[in-house]
Amino acid sequence: MKLKINQLGNPILRQRARALSVHEIHSDPIQQLIKLMIDTMHDTPGVGLAAPQIGESLQLIVIEDRPEYTKDVPIEQLKLRKRSPVPLHVVINPKLYIEEVDQAEFFEGCLSIAGFVALVPRTLAVRVECLNEKGEPVVIKAEGWYARILQHEIDHLQGTLCIDRMRDHSLMTVDNYMRYWKDKPVEEIMRERG
Ligand code: ZN
Repeated sequence: MKLKINQLGNPILRQRARALSVHEIHSDPIQQLIKLMIDTMHDTPGVGLAAPQIGESLQLIVIEDRPEYTKDVPIEQLKLRKRSPVPLHVVINPKLYIEEVDQAEFFEGCLSIAGFVALVPRTLAVRVECLNEKGEPVVIKAEGWYARILQHEIDHLQGTLCIDRMRDHSLMTVDNYMRYWKDKPVEEIMRERG
């Protein structure tokens, strides 16, 4: 079953989500919600989904970057983005720490801003302290694209969207990104976008 994904303008996307207790994490409704979020992420497909996107203002995220999602992306593009597969995992009540001052700029999209992408600077390395789906404490160290996914999804729990962080004038449809910009280096895009 696939849940409906709320789109930009839905007020829940701008709320701060609340933390879950370990007791709640163990409960049937939350375990069921986690399963539904994983199904929804897989069916959409997407590399991450935060609970506010499906209408629950809770600090709950699912993430998975499958190899099949990037099978048509040239290897040099993947290297540039430092993108490699990330196994399925659940992030609850996360605290994000920036581990690297340097940033990288790439186009990213959001399932709640369907059909659009924008150029978003993100820090290159993060540490996340959170709970897993069993309520156990976990420390995640992430670099590159995985660090970007974590920053994007954890922003959702604060009511922040990628368009709040994007470069001015960089929002565009996915179709036009594919048509005009996808193979251009970011520096060139920055010059041309006006
Ligand atoms: Zn998003």
